[in-house]
Amino acid sequence: MELSIQTTDALKPLPRDADLTFGTIFTDHMFNMDYDQKNGWHNPRIEPYQPIVMDPSTMVLHYGQSIFEGLKAFKTSSGQIQVFRPEQNFARFNRSAQKLCMPPLDEAFALKAMMELLKVDKRWVPSTPGTSLYIRPTIIAMDPFIGVRASYTYRFFIIMSPVGAYYKEGFNPVKIWVTDQYVRAVRGGMGEVKTAGNYAASLYAGEEAHRIGYTQVLWLDGVELKYIEEVGSMNIFFVIDDEIITPALSGSILSGITRDTVKLLAEKWGTPVTERRISIDELITAHESGKLQEVFGSGTAAVISPVGEIKYKDKIMKVGDGSVGKWSQKFFKAITDIQYGVAEDTDGWILPLD
Ligand SMILES: *Cc1c(COP(=O)(O)O)cnc(C)c1O
Repeated sequence: MELSIQTTDALKPLPRDADLTFGTIFTDHMFNMDYDQKNGWHNPRIEPYQPIVMDPSTMVLHYGQSIFEGLKAFKTSSGQIQVFRPEQNFARFNRSAQKLCMPPLDEAFALKAMMELLKVDKRWVPSTPGTSLYIRPTIIAMDPFIGVRASYTYRFFIIMSPVGAYYKEGFNPVKIWVTDQYVRAVRGGMGEVKTAGNYAASLYAGEEAHRIGYTQVLWLDGVELKYIEEVGSMNIFFVIDDEIITPALSGSILSGITRDTVKLLAEKWGTPVTERRISIDELITAHESGKLQEVFGSGTAAVISPVGEIKYKDKIMKVGDGSVGKWSQKFFKAITDIQYGVAEDTDGWILPLD
């Protein structure tokens, strides 16, 4: 397939690195590709960033048949632009497509198209430490049809947004709230899929968390409301009595690439992560006996997010001594050092832009 590239000279002014937030401004160009049953995936093109014109009956607007990915491009101190484990994102994208009854992508081609887009808009990759260019591949159902079935036509697009340093004011522990009322996903459902509906389903509990002063929701399993699953858009880790524990992938938890990276690093360092079920009661017991040393989330946006406080029903658990734990620090530094080219990439995790 031939990738067509149509660029614009009407370039937007670049924001200052210090003014960057998350997800509010977008680069000059985007990637688009269409699918229909006769032509398969076709017409791959890089073109100026622009609205998608659609009929009000377009299926994605009514039934949520939509999947996405999230990854980042980094600039090293020598000016090299590089992405972190992007093959993993496109592999997961195809797993998501399958669950949403969407046609699979040629992963190698999609990745190549993304790298071409990155090349066209490379001036948008910020260089201040901690900043990056967030990349959002998305597929949406495009049939103009009101009725529940899988769409026959799709749009695959990639947009990119420069993002500021997540920890501008230092590496601050967050406060999370465990809901004993709402659930995000159940086994057999869509929890392991990066699909729009999961995030719509999380909003109501998220607002309740904010109302009582907490940043994010920690979800329990959808059947017994007993076993810990994950945080909003992060997987979760606990250090109890020197053991690093993360909930096993049960089908209702998103299989994070950062989660996998933490696992691989821990293994390499001789402290393998235990993947198993962990109940909220076990967490409370560990906290009461003084054995709960650290809690941290993992995800592309923050990389590692230390948790300083957990609220469950009337119980408020402070984690550790309120400062950032040694494992949180160690994982954060190891991963970001590789991403920004400070440390050598010994595992083939970096794809440089040539
Ligand atoms: C994207 C996401 C994660 C983290 O995945 P990464 O690949 O590490 O960014 C965790 N949980 C949910 C619900 C997510 O959507």
